[in-house]
Amino acid sequence: MKATHWVAFFIESMQRIRVIGGGLAGSIFAMQALESGYTVEWWTWGRPSSSLVAAGISNPLALKRLKFIQRAEDFMNSSRAFYHWLESETGRSFYQTLPLYHILYTDGEINDWEVKAESPLGEKYLGRISRNAELNRILGELNNVGWLDTEVFLEVTQEMKSPSLNLIERCWNISDLNDEIETVLCQGWKSDTLPFGIEPKAFNPAKGEVIIIFSESFPIRDGILHGGVFVLPLGNHLYKIGSTYTWDDLNELPSATGLEFLIEEFEKLWKGEYHLISHLAAVRPTTRDRKPLVGRVPNYKNLSVFNGMGSRAVLMAPLLSLELLAHLFEGSELPPEVSPLRFLAK
Ligand SMILES: Cc1cc2nc3c(=O)[nH]c(=O)nc-3n(C[C@H](O)[C@H](O)[C@H](O)COP(=O)(O)OP(=O)(O)OC[C@H]3O[C@@H](n4cnc5c(N)ncnc54)[C@H](O)[C@@H]3O)c2cc1C
Repeated sequence: MKATHWVAFFIESMQRIRVIGGGLAGSIFAMQALESGYTVEWWTWGRPSSSLVAAGISNPLALKRLKFIQRAEDFMNSSRAFYHWLESETGRSFYQTLPLYHILYTDGEINDWEVKAESPLGEKYLGRISRNAELNRILGELNNVGWLDTEVFLEVTQEMKSPSLNLIERCWNISDLNDEIETVLCQGWKSDTLPFGIEPKAFNPAKGEVIIIFSESFPIRDGILHGGVFVLPLGNHLYKIGSTYTWDDLNELPSATGLEFLIEEFEKLWKGEYHLISHLAAVRPTTRDRKPLVGRVPNYKNLSVFNGMGSRAVLMAPLLSLELLAHLFEGSELPPEVSPLRFLAK
């Protein structure tokens, strides 16, 4: 090869990214890379169960403690902009904003809600408190919560056509790391971190189960009800109810105890008529400190990880994708709390 061809080849490989995994993390990263002008080789293999079972809720507030997550507004703005951009590019609809009605059980919780609602971020998200007669509950209305229909989103991204995108059905292996292309592992909960110098206990995956019910009379149809479990309206009188958290028995099989828990919690909220349609389970890729795992894998010059977003992948992945891209290609810093360096194997 002539020297000029080598230079062209080198520059081209500098602008290329190989994305591994077709769940929410890989799809969002691949789309953001494409939009940012990179050439993307996207390897997908296996069913992204976690992303398909997920409720798809994008909420900046930890409801138990009424505490906004770090950089809440940046995550909300970036994710909203990203999903709306992709909707307009593809002419498909998969993201919307809706209220979440959080049950306030005690006077203390009502008081905390009122105090929080006066903070600068609280003014934007924490809305009015009202009594719902049909549920016989006091509800705090959380505004501007996002809902991503993950099934439609994944379908849309898999169908994306671009001269800069090459979608390949193939299982990646470490022996495939034999060129200069930046490789970003978005493998979800089954990823084996050991070979990459990240301690195995960094990952603490959490199994989650949901049920889908049909009810013509469930009273909250315009938003998500939250209290013990969430009840998410899917349209056509269907609702997704979830979810459980368990750290043992890690598999994608619905369990009798999961079903019992979900039904019991749902019936504490409402006693009307409904039919059970389906029961699903998957495993969330959660880390030990519940923070994402994003950045270069130690000791590899062109290997990165984009994983560990737990229950906040819909909210966090769009901004973290852009930050990882800027880190890999422009040398900018990533927030230290997401760095794989915090889990270096000893
Ligand atoms: C019950 C439940 C409810 C949830 N609710 C929400 C919610 O409301 N909001 C939210 O944001 N998150 C929610 N989550 C979490 C969310 O689902 C996950 O954080 C997210 O889907 C993880 O996406 P991922 O791409 O990392 O993993 P996955 O969806 O698991 O996808 C990883 C993909 O990579 C593939 N892969 C692995 N290894 C390779 C390889 N070597 N080569 C090629 N491909 C490979 C896998 O086969 C898989 O297809 C929920 C999860 C559960 C279980």
